[in-house]
Amino acid sequence: MKWGIDLGGTKIEGIIIDSAENNTVIARRRIPTEGDRGYHHVLLQIKKLIAALSKESGLLPQKIGIGTPGSIFPPTGHLKNCNSQHLNDKPLLVDLQNLLQVPVAMANDANCFALAETQMGIVPDILPDAKVVFGVIMGTGVGGGLVVNGQIINGANGIGGEWGHNFLDDSGGSCYCGKMGCVETVISGPALEKYYLQISGHLKLLKDIVKDVKADPYAKETVARLIHYFGLGVSTIINTIDPDIIVLGGGVGNIDLLYTKGIEEAKKFVFNPECATKIVKPKLGDSAGVFGAAFLN
Ligand SMILES: [Zn+2]
Repeated sequence: MKWGIDLGGTKIEGIIIDSAENNTVIARRRIPTEGDRGYHHVLLQIKKLIAALSKESGLLPQKIGIGTPGSIFPPTGHLKNCNSQHLNDKPLLVDLQNLLQVPVAMANDANCFALAETQMGIVPDILPDAKVVFGVIMGTGVGGGLVVNGQIINGANGIGGEWGHNFLDDSGGSCYCGKMGCVETVISGPALEKYYLQISGHLKLLKDIVKDVKADPYAKETVARLIHYFGLGVSTIINTIDPDIIVLGGGVGNIDLLYTKGIEEAKKFVFNPECATKIVKPKLGDSAGVFGAAFLN
């Protein structure tokens, strides 16, 4: 049995899956995070969720995987770069192991997404022999995860796969991470909506910008910006780690043009006349985080 917890900003989801039985879901629950009540309260919410899963299934965890926002700083095991501020600089891994009295494995949500799609999502469906998988969540922010031979690559700094904070273009402006022009400041959903507002003087949601691409010249320009910088950004992934497959999650990842014009744009910058890397939509939807957490075990 694999136990996974997906710790999000507004909800915490827990799952037990039977990996020996085709990843059948044994139990699954979600409760509110209530992060505004502080770090200690969030720990107790996780404990409460695990107790509920235990009661429902009649099982006790031997080990638990947990997906978190932000990343884990290896020397201290503390979380950093979380958009849920109550978690930053907290030793979540150690505190959870003490509270739950079981071993805990932890990874950020984008790594869990990449792992879940690799183990039981789109990757085994269309490229079962893939060795190198890059998963990206392009939504409110831009996160990434690198999986090689079925294992997450965390790296020396705990930032393996953090493509969202590669430098892309100065026009993105300052990023919450303290740097300038990160991928996230150019092609996240809010970044694209901000760009549209700057050039048009009007607010428009990204889904409407994409819908109006033919009729609205500002929408056309915003989508052209997305395609160009997506292609440029993705080419740096391909030139550096040359993955077999890139899986694009999140709201921005839903935009169909990325899989046609976006790929064509990336090819302009790839250090090869051809590009064999597949760029595809995910299969697991919102469930990827919690399944990926379970596969940390
Ligand atoms: Zn950044």
